[in-house]
Amino acid sequence: MPSKGTCKAKDCSREVIAKGYCRKHYRLWKAGEMPKARYKTCTAEKCRKRRFRASLCEEHYAAAHGKKGQTPAAAPAAAAS
Ligand SMILES: [Zn+2]
Ligand SMILES: [Zn+2]
Repeated sequence: MPSKGTCKAKDCSREVIAKGYCRKHYRLWKAGEMPKARYKTCTAEKCRKRRFRASLCEEHYAAAHGKKGQTPAAAPAAAAS
């Protein structure tokens, strides 16, 4: 997108080149070093995967809940009545 402006990183007023960041900050952003990633990331330590559920990526969510490959939403309701 050709829209220009100044970098949205704190205390930076360089010209935007992409995603609202200047060249330097855009590189950092791509490297996952900027606080606002392109999507919310897993809160597990050193994990930058996309969030899946409950602030965790699919892998860590599965690990935390012991349901690998199964989501609560996809789980069939227990046959009752
Ligand atoms: Zn910048
Ligand atoms: Zn994770």
